Amino acid sequence: MTDLAQLKEELVTANRILAHHHVVDSFGHISVRHPTIPGHFLMSRARAPGVLVEEDIMEFTLEGKIVGAEPGKPYSERFIHGAILEARPDAMCVVHNHSPNVVPFTVTGRKMRPIMHMCAPIGTDIPNWDIAHKFGYETNLLVTNMEMGRDLAKTLGHRTVSLMRGHGSVVVGRSIRETVFTSIYMEANAEMLIKALQMGEVEYMHDGEVAANTRGRAGFTWERGWENWCREVSRKYVAQTWDMGPGFSKTDPAG
Ligand code: MN
Repeated sequence: MTDLAQLKEELVTANRILAHHHVVDSFGHISVRHPTIPGHFLMSRARAPGVLVEEDIMEFTLEGKIVGAEPGKPYSERFIHGAILEARPDAMCVVHNHSPNVVPFTVTGRKMRPIMHMCAPIGTDIPNWDIAHKFGYETNLLVTNMEMGRDLAKTLGHRTVSLMRGHGSVVVGRSIRETVFTSIYMEANAEMLIKALQMGEVEYMHDGEVAANTRGRAGFTWERGWENWCREVSRKYVAQTWDMGPGFSKTDPAG
């Protein structure tokens, strides 16, 4: 199997996992940068993440132009992915979702911050992009061109996550597995945080604690999640050898 075929298979698996964990439902999407053409990315045609298959995966330029096969209509919000991959050479993968426990944080001014160690990758400084700031109050809130995508990417900056007012969020990462991990734990964090806020004053993770968790997070941790999530959605687990460079421990700080 070629690297490209394997990557497409992994992208389908990621779609299934995100759907299973209610990060996406019939809507929301995940993209991955093309392994040999950095100016291109791969993403499904406009189809629900829980049902799409390898043959649905399309190739796009970062500007959202279709390259090659066109098995169907593309997602109208593909510009989110292209604009972020354009602005962030370090990013290999983008998840866009409307995950239900995250959305309340986009419309209330309540800050989204990690409250549990597994959720540390979302970071402590999470912006909330408001489409209306540049495009007014007559849009349908969807990111349907590069100008909107680039404005969102600007708000995201160097961070891992940005909320999107009245819409959802974007999550970026250095691999499909890392980005799926962060997306699942952002939704989990949001659900726990909503409960905690009902109980009283919340002590969020402190900056140093988030930094220590992020610094120590190893490929081993993502792999442990990925293997289990593959089982949940009946997809084949393929072990990945991780070399994320210096600063990434070989042990599992998740415990
Ligand atoms: Mn959307």
